[in-house]
Amino acid sequence: MWLCFNDCENLGRMPESVWHVGFLTKACAAATFLCGLYIIITVFLTSDSETNKYINYRHRQLFFDLNNSLTFNFTEGITVLDLLKFYSNATAETDIVELMFTNKALEPCPETSPLLVGPMQVEFSQPMTLDQVRTENPQLVLGGRYKPRNCVAVQKVAIIIPFRNRDEHLKYWLHYLHPILQRQQLDYGIYIIQQDGQSTFNRAKLLNVGYAEAVKEYDYNCFVFSDVDIVPIDDRNTYMCSSQPRHLSVSMDKFGFRLPYLNYFGGVSAMSKHQFLKINGFPNNYWGWGGEDDDIFNRLKLRGMKISRPSGDIGKCRMIRHNRDQKNEPNPQRFNRIAQTKRTINKDGINTLKYKVIQIEKDKLYTKITVDISEP
Ligand code: BGC
Repeated sequence: MWLCFNDCENLGRMPESVWHVGFLTKACAAATFLCGLYIIITVFLTSDSETNKYINYRHRQLFFDLNNSLTFNFTEGITVLDLLKFYSNATAETDIVELMFTNKALEPCPETSPLLVGPMQVEFSQPMTLDQVRTENPQLVLGGRYKPRNCVAVQKVAIIIPFRNRDEHLKYWLHYLHPILQRQQLDYGIYIIQQDGQSTFNRAKLLNVGYAEAVKEYDYNCFVFSDVDIVPIDDRNTYMCSSQPRHLSVSMDKFGFRLPYLNYFGGVSAMSKHQFLKINGFPNNYWGWGGEDDDIFNRLKLRGMKISRPSGDIGKCRMIRHNRDQKNEPNPQRFNRIAQTKRTINKDGINTLKYKVIQIEKDKLYTKITVDISEP
């Protein structure tokens, strides 16, 4: 029912043209408003698409890791603030506030980092402590993680180190490598994969475990597999992946600063996720010293890949001298196994990997994962 308070008798007698003009004015105003809104939204989204790309990338990563962090058994507490610092590249709380409110865009890092210094002095005689290394690297985030502050790293690199009873070597490795990797402007994490128990050492299986554990934590696209006793002496030897699997320890002091043989792929190597999966990861059944790196070389060759290497000059590295480890005697089966790669590549690798995680320790300098790999 209609209610009328004023000029009631004329209400029904309004000229038709007045109704039409009112309606058209309102329709035009609404259309103009909607067009304006559309233009503003389009301009905002297209003009700042690079900013949005990186901001979204960081948010996605933050949620990915927050989600995963719930599954870890931290030995030290990790706070949301730690994660915010990491994902905003901020070192201080004030930086986070600044970043939140200024919406700063980050450019991709240059292909060649401007921070590199070239050849360096590397020696293993001065005493070293983990606390000293922690103090030297204030920018690190729990788990041995880092990413550049002012640009978006070209690659996300997991560095995987097979490990048992080499704490002295690890201190030197961390002391030298953390600053190098930071100068190389990498978005990286260090994973120490420690073999539990006293059974014979199995380097390649530990490397497979490192791959499997690292991908659970972050969407790494490059994996560097390094022995704990090898340190590069030129930071232009970037710990990154390239279009072919890359061998990084190409001129070691131990071998008179040259390759011991052309197909040598031991020491330190880098593979993209795609390259690693193409060869079904590494063999799991090389127990003891030797042969597993030759098997990996065979796998790469069988899948049509070639080895890329830095020049002998840039690829120089030092190895920490040590006695042969117990429970890592030369594997007498290695020659036989290397001859069988073609038959074993699909049957033994990341697709058949079995292990049990015993402990995950998150330190500022590294993530140490102790694993039982005794099950064949
Ligand atoms: C072994 C490799 C080892 C190389 C260099 C070869 O005989 O099979 O595993 O890396 O020697 O020491």
